[in-house]
Amino acid sequence: MSLLIRGALLEGESVDVAIRNGLIESVGPTPVTSGESAPEALFDRELDGRGLHLFPSFRNAHTHVAMVLFRGYGDDMPLMEWLQTRIWPAEKVMTAEDVYHGARLGLLEMIRGGTTFLNEMYWHRPALLRAVEEMGVRACLGATILDLGDDALLSSQKAEIEELVAARAAGGLEAGGRVELSIAPHAIYTVSPAVLEWVARISDDAGVRVHIHLSETEGEVQGCLDEHGCRPAELLERVGLVSPRLVAAHGQFLDRSELELLARGGATLVTNPTANLKLATGGIFPWREARAAGVRVCLGTDGAGSNNNLDMIEEMKVAALVQKHREVDATALPAQEALAMATRAGAEAFGQGSGTIAAGEPADLVLVDFSDPATQPLHDPDSALVYAANASQVHTTICAGRVLMHGRRVEVCDEKEVVAGAVAAIREVLERSGAS
Ligand SMILES: [Zn+2]
Repeated sequence: MSLLIRGALLEGESVDVAIRNGLIESVGPTPVTSGESAPEALFDRELDGRGLHLFPSFRNAHTHVAMVLFRGYGDDMPLMEWLQTRIWPAEKVMTAEDVYHGARLGLLEMIRGGTTFLNEMYWHRPALLRAVEEMGVRACLGATILDLGDDALLSSQKAEIEELVAARAAGGLEAGGRVELSIAPHAIYTVSPAVLEWVARISDDAGVRVHIHLSETEGEVQGCLDEHGCRPAELLERVGLVSPRLVAAHGQFLDRSELELLARGGATLVTNPTANLKLATGGIFPWREARAAGVRVCLGTDGAGSNNNLDMIEEMKVAALVQKHREVDATALPAQEALAMATRAGAEAFGQGSGTIAAGEPADLVLVDFSDPATQPLHDPDSALVYAANASQVHTTICAGRVLMHGRRVEVCDEKEVVAGAVAAIREVLERSGAS
């Protein structure tokens, strides 16, 4: 499969991008020519990029994609009341099929917003895998582990993880190598240290990533101090989880020594500012301190139950604004850094190259149309993307060299059918849970 993007704008220059077998073959000034032959003949498909701006695609480094089913279901409620009266009763009756329908809707939204990768944590991993395979994106799908005193449930989760790790070791590449496995213990307050140690051993032995929520609220920090006599990141180190394979979401209440500890261990953090603001956690991610410590920071939307969308462009803007506000400094987290956090940092963290548009890199790209009045005049494309644009200005989304959307038309599914499937699924879930 080969693709030629002709005449798109990259850092102010018109370039042609040649793509073959999922990788960028060349990036150069228009036109690409090869000997005597006309370039069109050398590629399976050619896209007219004139007037469109090329960017690396977005990597959503922390989400629960199927939770789009809960978009707008119980907004403006206190966290525990929301979980106890809305989310948990509904999740209790959700089937794999419901998760599949929810995931397809979330992935459709992501593709329409230029996102080609998600780091995911939720139940019914096979249903998520099916949706990811169909929709053509990349994913790191967590095998979730929750340890709330139910031994039978815990044993079945452990058995599933052991099976998945063994299948991975046997060379079972999923979705043509686009899908990676992680182990996803929910958090330090829902998984015991003994189980976290078990996770760390498997992660070490098999080289599998670990995806966890960390230091999301002050209550979590205080609970950890009371119960274990240390702070959350110190507990992760104690159980052996701090390594380059660790991806920890939130981290709002990490102190300087925890950030240094995570940086020394090569761990990755993911900030999710919109969800933190909406759930009123009261903290802002310590970006300046994380940067000084040298820890890698990616960007995520979290689930749409607490966001309420999966729009990485909006997330970049919120991330930049909250840091400026926190630092009382308009130069804090500039557009270029917000963009790098949403693109390059995610690619690097998940072994998808450098996340730049260069020969030899994975062909994960977007074309953005800034002709909309909301993004005119155009002084600086990076700034326009972060501060003025939204998902609807993404014109084309390409993952692993495959066009998932072109001219706002998604090519990997019937959009109406995906939306209708998800709407029907959540209606039935709520009926079964007795909520409607
Ligand atoms: Zn989360």
